[in-house]
Formats: sequence, C-alpha cells, structure tokens
Amino acid sequence: MKVFRCDHCRQLVFFENVRCVACGHPLAYLPDIGVVGSLDPAEGNLFKSPLPRAAVGGYRLCANYVTNDVCNWAIPADDPAPLCRSCRITTVIPDLDVPGHREKWYKVEIAKRRLLYTLLALKLPVVSKENDPAHGIAFEFKADPKDADAPRVLTGHADGVITLNIAEAEDGERGRVRALFGEPYRTLVGHFRHESGHYFWDRLVKGSPRLDAFRTLFGDEQPDYGEALKRHHAAGPPADWQQRFVSAYASVHPWEDWAETWAHYLHIVDSLETAAACGVRLRPPRPGDPALRAIPDPLDEEFEPFDDLMESWLPLTYMLNNLNRGLGLADGYPFILAGPAVEKLRFVHDTVWAARAS
Ligand SMILES: [Zn+2]
Ligand SMILES: [Zn+2]
Ligand SMILES: [Zn+2]
Repeated sequence: MKVFRCDHCRQLVFFENVRCVACGHPLAYLPDIGVVGSLDPAEGNLFKSPLPRAAVGGYRLCANYVTNDVCNWAIPADDPAPLCRSCRITTVIPDLDVPGHREKWYKVEIAKRRLLYTLLALKLPVVSKENDPAHGIAFEFKADPKDADAPRVLTGHADGVITLNIAEAEDGERGRVRALFGEPYRTLVGHFRHESGHYFWDRLVKGSPRLDAFRTLFGDEQPDYGEALKRHHAAGPPADWQQRFVSAYASVHPWEDWAETWAHYLHIVDSLETAAACGVRLRPPRPGDPALRAIPDPLDEEFEPFDDLMESWLPLTYMLNNLNRGLGLADGYPFILAGPAVEKLRFVHDTVWAARAS
C-alpha cells in the first residue's frame, strides 16, 4: 500500500479513512488515479479533488459509501454506475436486518478493497461477471443458515465466484478455526488473496503455455482434488512440508500450493510497497556490508527483478516480526521460505508480469 495524504492539510491518512482527522475534509479512494484524496463538495452530489490528475468532471461517492457506510471509494462522474469498481463485483451480501451483519460486511469489504487495490496496481484483469460472464469475477458474502442441520457456507472459489462465510469477520471465530487447523496466519485479506489465486490460475495458467512449467514446479494438478483434500485432513501434511511449501495447507494439492504461493506474493508486494513508500532502508544482514539499501517498489513501472524483491523481503520480515514481538503481538509474517517455495514465488511473479505486459 502507498502512503496517502490529505490534499488540503497534508495530514497522513489511511486507505480506509473517510474523513481527515486534522481538517475534516471528506476523503475517498479515487480508483482512476489510485490514491486516497480529500474532496470539496461541488454541485449536486458531486465532489472535486484538487489533484491535477483527478477527473475533471468530479466524482460521486459509491452508493455503499453514502447509504451503507461500508465503502470509501469514489466513482468518476462520467461513469453512470451507482456502485464503485469494488462494490459492483460483490453480487451477494448478507441479510442486513440481522444484527451484526452490517459490521461483518464492512470488515469483509475493507479486506476485499485491499485485494483489489493490489490487483489493479499490478494491472491484472479485474472484470465483473456482468460484463464478462465467462471470465469475470464476483464475490458472494453469506452467513450460515439458522437451521443447524442445513449445510454451512464454505469459503472458496468456483468459476470466478469467490464465496466467503462472514463468520470469518469475527475475530473470535477466525481464531477458533485458526487453532483448529493449526494455522499460524488466518486473516480476511489472506482469504481473499488465496481465493483470488484460484481465479487467476484459471485465467493465467490453465490451458496456457505456462502449464508445463507450472507442473514442473508445483506438480501435476490432474489427480483428484477431493481425494487429496480427504488425505490431508486424515493424515496431515507430509513431515518435510516446510522444505517444499510456503504453508502446510499448500501441500494438499498443486492448486492449493499455487493459491497459497499467490497469496504470499500479494502479501510481499503489499508490504514492500508500504515499506518503499515510507522510505524504509535496510542494512542487509551481511557482515562487512555497511550500505543502507532502499526497499524497491514492487509496483514500479520499471520491472523490479524478483531477486531484488526477495533480498529486501527477508530482512524486512525479520524487522516486522521483531517489531511485533516488541509490542507483544504475534509475528506479522510467521513463515519460513525454503528454496523451492521461493522458486514457486518467482513463477508467480513472472506470471503476473507476463500478464501485465500482454
Ligand atoms: Zn486534512
Ligand atoms: Zn463501493
Ligand atoms: Zn484454496
């Protein structure tokens, strides 16, 4: 994530903010120029941004910003859609008459917008199912049915539709499942990054010239997925999973390995972007090398070689985890990246940049 400032008073603001705490101007994310900006009310329901790159005709606020308070994105005035680029790809929302559902929906949309921010910044295709039923993407946010015997809502991806059980928005419930499955890391944004990996496997790898290289690194995805999952739940991951995979769950099947690796790539890109935007410099932990190295911006239009990103990522995770430990928090990035996992990350990086160039 980039660093954002209020355009009226220069106060630092976050991606999620709706109002500048210093000067009171309304804030919105302006997806056409990729920044959070402060706005001046204009005629009717329009707002203007003082930024020179901003839409000349002004902006409307997303209908979910105005009426539901779950969004902070704007829409360029010449786009007639009532919902922003992020909200229009959510096709199912939970019943808002049920107490607590609006708060959960809000948390879920925040995490989804973080996913979209990075996908759009990487210039990956994000098209709605409405505009492209065969290749588009949609999100469905559902609550478990009241009837305890009815089937539960499963978080997952199928044919471009990412479904999330909104119970994942409850910290307590997510923590319970995290402990149950022995996962060191389970977050809403992690879910979305993982499930988007399944979607982009269909878009960028399936039936493509990259498939052979994928199978060499991740294995043959053709053996039965359901059987592989059953085996994993019965016997657990292989004893040596840490030497080959980014996470234990990645060992289930090549599709899960890809989705986990994809999610980690997005974690890395987002965190490095923040560190680069904040001007973080690292002293590489090599004896005898006194140079401070600026963190490279992984979203720079100039291609950043994968090795340069990794060379910054490993010391940055050391810093991140140590900062968290200093505050008594769990490690921010509780993973060890073994050589084969790094090579899989390189494949994801190359796939993303090849898609961006085409
Ligand atoms: Zn301000
Ligand atoms: Zn919206
Ligand atoms: Zn998965």
